[in-house]
Amino acid sequence: MSRSIDQTHDPSLRSWVESANQKDTDFPIQNLPFGVFRHRNSAQSSRIGVAIGDQILDLTSCYQSGLLQELPEQLQAACTASNLNPLMALGNWASSALRTCLSELLRWNGQKPLSETKLLLPMVEVELLLPANIGDYTDFYASIFHATNVGKLFRPDNPLLPNYKYVPVGYHGRASSIVPSGTPIKRPQGQRKPPEDSVPRFGPSVLLDYEVEVGFLIGAGNELGQPISIDTAESHVFGLCLVNDWSARDIQAWEYQPLGPFLGKSFATTISPWVVTLEALAPFRCPAFSRSQGDPLPLPYLSDSINTRLGGIDLKVEVLLNSAQMREQGIEPFSISHAAFRQMYWTMAQMITHHTSNGCNLRPGDLLASGTVSGAESGSQGSLLEITRRGSQPIKLPTDEMRTFLADTDEVIIRGYCEQENYARVGFGECQGIVIAAE
Ligand code: MN
Repeated sequence: MSRSIDQTHDPSLRSWVESANQKDTDFPIQNLPFGVFRHRNSAQSSRIGVAIGDQILDLTSCYQSGLLQELPEQLQAACTASNLNPLMALGNWASSALRTCLSELLRWNGQKPLSETKLLLPMVEVELLLPANIGDYTDFYASIFHATNVGKLFRPDNPLLPNYKYVPVGYHGRASSIVPSGTPIKRPQGQRKPPEDSVPRFGPSVLLDYEVEVGFLIGAGNELGQPISIDTAESHVFGLCLVNDWSARDIQAWEYQPLGPFLGKSFATTISPWVVTLEALAPFRCPAFSRSQGDPLPLPYLSDSINTRLGGIDLKVEVLLNSAQMREQGIEPFSISHAAFRQMYWTMAQMITHHTSNGCNLRPGDLLASGTVSGAESGSQGSLLEITRRGSQPIKLPTDEMRTFLADTDEVIIRGYCEQENYARVGFGECQGIVIAAE
């Protein structure tokens, strides 16, 4: 099962890929996240790979070299597909069997495999693409700290709406504009109406923001009309990635009532290219958020003892900002916030169960995002809207430049990692994008 720990998590495992044995790598042999890549400037079609240190293990080459022969045929076929959807559709037994096979293949046992050079590619030499064909995208709002921070800015006397502690609130996002890390983000144009103006005008957003989130990519789906129960919800998760839900706050503020987010969000969503499986995250499971005294319990369909005890994930996320001036001066990206995913009010299983509770079907490759990950402490807010209090408290970059919202040429980098004593560190890589000017 995805929550059990086995020999693939053994912290003493070493790989014959040297860079995977470095202490601070995101991709040690205990991680083995899946992604999709293509050779730069090549007509070759995309392939599935696994990140190992600073290299990619090419699964098509593994298949051609006969290294996957012990796996069931349908799983071998899924390894040679051009995206992860066929592997996702098989369900978690498949990614688990593949993980065991790849862990053995990459393990140092005294000698390197003869086919080493054929199997590996330096990560810097390839283009990392979207890991899956994402058919549908739903964005939740699962941090009570984010919901309260944002609510306070718009409704100081009534920050949290009465449904919040009962319903994992979400909206249907746009799948077509999901892009992989590294894709430039064009500043959107739209309608905005500052409070001091009597009529709206159309033009480039002046309040462009990011939101740091954690995404879950669906593995096996459910049939239309067949809800997923809380005790089986995690068996429908293939793995996790980082998400930047770019948000134009001025467009959003003017359009969001009464039907919710629309063009203020749908212009772009960036995801990190490597999908970290739930199995790789097994050592980092933790209790669900512990609700304050007086908070209602989740309704029975959103509650079960395993979810309460182990429904959380102890995953840290960090946001870094990098201006053009900083890049010119060779200054390192500036860390502006850290937050803990374990502090989300709703767990991944609760979001999936709620999403399907009306019979809505999820399909392999669908993306569900958690909503902005914010904590209670200062320095843990996951958007500029919160950090700068809607632009009233600018932040200062190392170059003395001030920011309330994002400027053209600003780069936003999200990182994520899990650390736990007696286990290897498991990282997510980066979710990065540079803002470019509107047309
Ligand atoms: Mn969001």
